[in-house]
Amino acid sequence: MRIDLHTHSTCSDGTDTPAELIAAAVEAGLDVVALTDHDTTIGWDEAEAAARQHGIRLVRGLELSTDNSGQSQHLLAYEVDPLEPELVAMLERGVASRQQRIPRMIKRLADLKFPVDEAHVRAAAGEGPVGRPHVADAMIRARHVKTREEAFVRFLGDDGPAYVPREKLAIEEAIATVRKAGGVPVIAHPLGRGAQFTRERFAELQQLGLVGVEVDHEEHDPEMRTELRGIAEALGLVATGSSDYHGTGKKGHRLGCNTTTEEALDALLAACGR
Ligand code: AMP
Ligand code: ZN
Ligand code: FE
Ligand code: FE
Repeated sequence: MRIDLHTHSTCSDGTDTPAELIAAAVEAGLDVVALTDHDTTIGWDEAEAAARQHGIRLVRGLELSTDNSGQSQHLLAYEVDPLEPELVAMLERGVASRQQRIPRMIKRLADLKFPVDEAHVRAAAGEGPVGRPHVADAMIRARHVKTREEAFVRFLGDDGPAYVPREKLAIEEAIATVRKAGGVPVIAHPLGRGAQFTRERFAELQQLGLVGVEVDHEEHDPEMRTELRGIAEALGLVATGSSDYHGTGKKGHRLGCNTTTEEALDALLAACGR
């Protein structure tokens, strides 16, 4: 069984439509794939239909941007009830905070003499939540940069000159809301891009309903993976592995490059309140 629990489609900042993503998952030899677009569940129906057609299993997920004691931290949420009112309100707030920062980032780029067209940013986002990768796409279109990666390194990364933070919801609240919506919260890439995470902090969040931690991720080196696996085992958190695939939008995150065991998937779904 090959299981990949973290992927993105054009419904957020991936480059494959949900149906294309499922076809690519089949191609990559996956039996189970989770679609985890940023702050949205709008890709689920298309992915579900494609998964049924191809005979593979879809896990319905999303990835939330949260604040962990002042640090940016992504949280994966699986099998939530997408209509649960508190969850819906939380996602709406997330999307609104994404919308609000875009004109400010565009203003910064204009001041830096790298103007982009707001309509191009919106067009890159399509119907899903808008993010920095879409600003990067507009920069590529304006020929300021060649790749999203270059746009992040030179302008849009957290230390970049065009970066504008957005309001993020507290991770404690996100975990509680995901649980309330019957879903399973899993910390995404906790040691990626310089983030810090202690065993004590995992234990605190576990008390609040955290179920798992993404151990095998491309942003984790072997030592980080060993450390995280040890913490997960000691605390009884479910350890997952995944690609964080974004199509051609992110290099080095091929579908199935990291995988989750069948036992871990069973444990996650058993924790699901529905
Ligand atoms: P945002 O959600 O708008 O803050 O944008 C963050 C997203 O940008 C992350 O979830 C990644 O998918 C993407 N991202 C971050 N760093 C890079 C990078 N260096 N190259 C390409 N995409 C990136
Ligand atoms: Zn992304
Ligand atoms: Fe992430
Ligand atoms: Fe992701």
